[in-house]
Amino acid sequence: MASHIVGYPRMGPKRELKFALESFWDGKSTGEELQKVAADLRSSIWKQMAEAGIKFIPSNTFSYYDQVLDTTAMLGAVPERYSWAGGEIGFDTYFSMARGNATVPAMEMTKWFDTNYHFIVPELGPDMKFTYSSHKAISEYQEAKALGIDTVPVLIGPVTYVLLSKPAKVVNKSFPLLSLLGSILHVYKEVIAELKAAGASWIQFDEPSLVMDLDSHQLDAFTKAYSELESSLSDLNVLIETYFADVPVEAYKTITGLSAISAFGFDLVRGTKTADVIKSVGFPSGKYLFAGIVDGRNIWANDLASSLAILKDLEAVVGKDKLVVSTSCSLMHTAVDLVNETKLDGEIKSWLAFAAQKVVEVNALSKALAGRTDEVFFSANAAAQASRKSSPRVTNAEVQKAAAALKDSDHRRATNVGIRLDTQQKKLNLPILPTTTTGSFPQTVELRRVRREYKAKKISEEEYVNAIKEEISKVVKLQEELDLDVLVHGEPERNDMVEYFGEQLSGFAFTVNGWVQSYGSRCVKPPIIYGDVSRPKAMTVFWSTTAQSMTSRPMKGMLTGPVTILNWSFVRNDQPRHETCYQIALAIKKEVEDLEAAGIQVIQIDEAALREGLPLRKSEQAFYLDWAVHSFRITNCSVEDTTQVIHTHMCYSNFNDIIHSIINMDSDVITLENSRSDEKLLSVFREGVKYGAGIGPGVYDIHSPRIPTTEEIADRINKMLVVLEVNILWVNPDCGLKTRKYKEVKPALTNMVAAAKLLRSQL
Ligand code: GLN
Ligand code: ZN
Repeated sequence: MASHIVGYPRMGPKRELKFALESFWDGKSTGEELQKVAADLRSSIWKQMAEAGIKFIPSNTFSYYDQVLDTTAMLGAVPERYSWAGGEIGFDTYFSMARGNATVPAMEMTKWFDTNYHFIVPELGPDMKFTYSSHKAISEYQEAKALGIDTVPVLIGPVTYVLLSKPAKVVNKSFPLLSLLGSILHVYKEVIAELKAAGASWIQFDEPSLVMDLDSHQLDAFTKAYSELESSLSDLNVLIETYFADVPVEAYKTITGLSAISAFGFDLVRGTKTADVIKSVGFPSGKYLFAGIVDGRNIWANDLASSLAILKDLEAVVGKDKLVVSTSCSLMHTAVDLVNETKLDGEIKSWLAFAAQKVVEVNALSKALAGRTDEVFFSANAAAQASRKSSPRVTNAEVQKAAAALKDSDHRRATNVGIRLDTQQKKLNLPILPTTTTGSFPQTVELRRVRREYKAKKISEEEYVNAIKEEISKVVKLQEELDLDVLVHGEPERNDMVEYFGEQLSGFAFTVNGWVQSYGSRCVKPPIIYGDVSRPKAMTVFWSTTAQSMTSRPMKGMLTGPVTILNWSFVRNDQPRHETCYQIALAIKKEVEDLEAAGIQVIQIDEAALREGLPLRKSEQAFYLDWAVHSFRITNCSVEDTTQVIHTHMCYSNFNDIIHSIINMDSDVITLENSRSDEKLLSVFREGVKYGAGIGPGVYDIHSPRIPTTEEIADRINKMLVVLEVNILWVNPDCGLKTRKYKEVKPALTNMVAAAKLLRSQL
């Protein structure tokens, strides 16, 4: 019985790679120093897996930035604008593609399936010459071999690579990218030949796009590609690895019918139906099933007893020596090592397993299948599972009851949005094209220091409150000077829009080192939702009312919505996600009611991450959207008509396909991030989507340091006015300003307000 790990986090247990990268980018260390940090990380990871007893240890899952970009480098698919001269791709070209350089912007980045990881989107066109230009896979394989570890080299599969790419700017949008597959395969053949020559006996192709709703043309590409590679792959064991959802039956039949392939990896955690498909459709005889039973997307300890039962079931179908225990996906989507969690209490810690612990779980399961159960490990695991089920910290009967009662009602505000807007306008008396911002103002070094020192108890509560008050007062004054219409307090007390709320809600725990790579050197530290969620006391009322007392203009209350809190956390797996979401919605609802009672007239509930929780498969999307939108409505269905509820934008998202759900949120005003494509957004409205609420499509891109001119902002607003009615349009930037500098924010907002005034005078 064997064990396998799909992939492993590369940042290091204490984000060593992040710091090495950033120091290199800042010119504070050399390329050799960076390479040394990376090699040390790789070697410790391989050794750790080998010591744990893992048989199939992956290599080439390390990356200096992104595994898709690594593949782009391997194929020499460098867009022309980087003026690459050919030859082996070095840090210069590689990081220019990833991050841009002084003269050329970076390549586009987008979300890796439904994770919070972002990859660099390949740009392909008919003129692209594919040449073998990065020998990373082979050198990692040899590096591990030199340490005495024979690894499974991992490559992004050729079909997934093409399906994730986009046509280069110079070519027509409808350019058939799959027509490039043949030339790409030439490079893959070279890579495979080298790996074989170096002694590799296995190779893993990650083809996660197999879990999507593919059409027959796309499915055919798999058959073509792997038939084409078949002779190159002879004498190798070939694993096709899938993850993040079930492989649909058609795709399952297609790939299990490929003669070049000897092993198939499936995600049995998110792919809840796959085990049944294997049983009912059957599994090709003599081939290996890599059963992804240990969750790579979460931090919970595996329920070993129940996993073992599932594995035994599958073993009966595929045969005794053909079942390999594996992780559901790469462990790069979970935290690295529980050992470094010094602040979590023992009880919660016993319920958790990070990447390093998951490796041990995989091995324990494979040993148990082989009849060599580690009794001590299994019984400790069973005890932890039982304690998690019965712990009073997990269950709050009152919350359970309140959440259960929600399901039967629609939770809608009583009055129609058009009437509400009229009522609100009587009270708020705003000019047309009202100006506002999405919430946060620049977070200065000084501000971060104050928060850090307060947390470390180096300054008193009084000093802290005074410092934050002073910051708020500065931000309020600035906004009045800029003559914005609806103000914000600037969020100086918040480190992060989810963590800030999680810290004040019960049912949440926080790690010190539970980092997960988001993109490049960027990591996030999601809170852990372990129990029923409730709100012991008001969370934002003090700051919002303090801010409101400093101005006569309306001050927005600023909350993070339930769906975003859920989607940016590690969520408990012992109840459906929507139940947890409803609980958070109830907690936020109480906050909304308290804000309203304290006299706050405009409340913003950010659902930045609503779109990104959308399931990969179309058949599951309606259900998700239904409970996600319902959760949002629960938070504010009880407010008075006079209270204006704004929900803010969704970052980096294509929301056209969910516009009806956005409307169904029934907020008074929505602000959307669209700075990358007004056209796309406006086309929805041009097509006659019935829309009555206020809308603020961001009028400039805050993600860039560039200062937009008054003219260009006015021009964008004018284009919006062709499609949207003047009395519903708001003028605001497209996201929070916290990552920007005041020297950028001041002139940008000055121009934004000037543009709004200019247009008002012309109307
Ligand atoms: N209020 C948040 C901010 O401005 C909203 C950001 C977001 O939703 N991404 O920072
Ligand atoms: Zn954004």
